[in-house]
Amino acid sequence: MNSQNKDKKPTNFIRNIINEDLSNGKHNSIKTRFPPEPNGYLHIGHAKSICLNFGTADDYDGYCNLRFDDTNPAKEDIEYVNSIKEDIRWLGFNWNGKVKYSSSYFDIFYKCAEELISKGLAYVCFLSIDQTRDYRGTLKSPGKNSPYRDKSVKDNLILFNKMKEGKFLEGECVLRAKIDMSSSFMCMRDPTLYRIRFETHHQTNDDWCIYPMYDFAHCIGDAIEGVTHSLCTLEFQDNRRIYDWTLENLDEFNVPNRPHQYEFSRLNIEYTTMSKRKLKLLVDNNHVSGWNDPRMPTISGLRRRGYTPESIRDFSDRIGVSKVNSLTDLAILEASVRDNLNTIAPRSMAVINPVKLLIENYPNDKVESLVAPLHPQNEEMGTREIFFSRELFIDKADFIEVPPNNKYKRLAINKEVRLRNSYVIKASHFDTDKDGNVKIIYCTFDPDTLGKNPSDGRKVKGVIHYVECSTAIEAEFRIYDCLFLESNPENFEDLSSLLNPNSLQIKNGFVEFNLSNAKIETAYQFEREGYFCRDNDSENKLVFNKTVGLRDSYK
Ligand code: ATP
Ligand code: MG
Repeated sequence: MNSQNKDKKPTNFIRNIINEDLSNGKHNSIKTRFPPEPNGYLHIGHAKSICLNFGTADDYDGYCNLRFDDTNPAKEDIEYVNSIKEDIRWLGFNWNGKVKYSSSYFDIFYKCAEELISKGLAYVCFLSIDQTRDYRGTLKSPGKNSPYRDKSVKDNLILFNKMKEGKFLEGECVLRAKIDMSSSFMCMRDPTLYRIRFETHHQTNDDWCIYPMYDFAHCIGDAIEGVTHSLCTLEFQDNRRIYDWTLENLDEFNVPNRPHQYEFSRLNIEYTTMSKRKLKLLVDNNHVSGWNDPRMPTISGLRRRGYTPESIRDFSDRIGVSKVNSLTDLAILEASVRDNLNTIAPRSMAVINPVKLLIENYPNDKVESLVAPLHPQNEEMGTREIFFSRELFIDKADFIEVPPNNKYKRLAINKEVRLRNSYVIKASHFDTDKDGNVKIIYCTFDPDTLGKNPSDGRKVKGVIHYVECSTAIEAEFRIYDCLFLESNPENFEDLSSLLNPNSLQIKNGFVEFNLSNAKIETAYQFEREGYFCRDNDSENKLVFNKTVGLRDSYK
């Protein structure tokens, strides 16, 4: 046991179960699996499941398989298979051995279905969808047995084989488990095990026209792979009965150390959705630029936004694992990335809403080179070269003609501020354009204040950032806000009416010269502005995505 990691992590009910299973000898080692269906990109909810499955296996020196739950070819695609593998690796996890596919067990599933039929525990049912619903009954009333329920084993074996041979139409019949039409668990009222789909599968092509249901395939896949703890989300709590029923009725898998399913709460985060179906609608209807749009809660979106694997793993630790579904505060996710970037992001200056500043007492043709630290608390990160001259850009929001009160610490007429990493300046007057917008602010600088306070003892409280004009590099800044106006959009079917029209704002400004070769997806702290990273769609110009602000803005 990797006790170092195990002890570092907060305990949870799953760890308690594992500890017990190891101590009473039920299992000698731990094996988990992460079972994504390749019908969309992974999101931060999946990241919780990934951290739990891979992280738990790691901590107990066990294994975690990656198994694509690819039993529904109509909605699946190889693009998703590839993106899922990439996202898991990027998060920092490695799966055990080769990638597994449920579809590679199709032969075994078929034999298992035959075994159940042979035991009189499954039958081919020709009820229509509507009839099946009527026969199922309701939570208050028991269901009725299907008229096909008592056909002979022999007939059912023949019919099931005909299903496989493509002799029936899609929807004409299904294979059902024969369990209990009056069970208080609706899912136990003869659940479907197999259905007909004439679809080309991304792994098995046209080999099959019948596909097993998740509830049937999943437990067998777990048993084949020797999974010990099959961790899934709470909505499968009732379905655990099918999981157990299936394994207990298959000779090969009804063994004492067979896999067991344990359910934990799904992650939901405010102002976004964790439904792959809804996320796909956002993509398909062009509400976002793609699955990796930086506003998406997908792993690829968060990555493009500037989240790091460390920050997502840390988030997963912070939220923990429980059995109670809840809506997680967005501030927790943001705090995770902010705390991580605060330690690793080099500092830089960017002016997002530029206005020109002219230092009247600075020489006309001089560009001075200055040195600024890359990280104020970490000298080891070194320094960078910045510039100073007569013409600078500052942010519009950092100047006002008359300060509103004496707490105001930025630039105003006849007021001094320090320009970050350089001199103290004082504004004297300004020009406006015909609409009254400030165009140029005229200042003077105090040459005796580079890296030190004014020698006459006067106090300068405010510090603002700037970029020198002749060396500044033009950049586009993409500033993001939540995709939705509603804190819990999961409750709504039509998401488009809840979309935040201001979820993306584009600004054109300037960055320091040394950012001309900024690396993609690498974090910078633009001082006083927030954490940013260069976008991957930034070949011909510099585009920076705002990852997160410097302070919690949701409180
Ligand atoms: P679908 O609606 O298509 O079934 P899904 O979100 O359940 O989508 P899967 O690909 O089946 O997606 O999920 C893979 C694994 O990730 C499952 O074990 C599932 O329980 C887990 N998972 C999915 N969403 C969340 C979430 N929001 N929080 C925690 N775990 C999740
Ligand atoms: Mg699922």
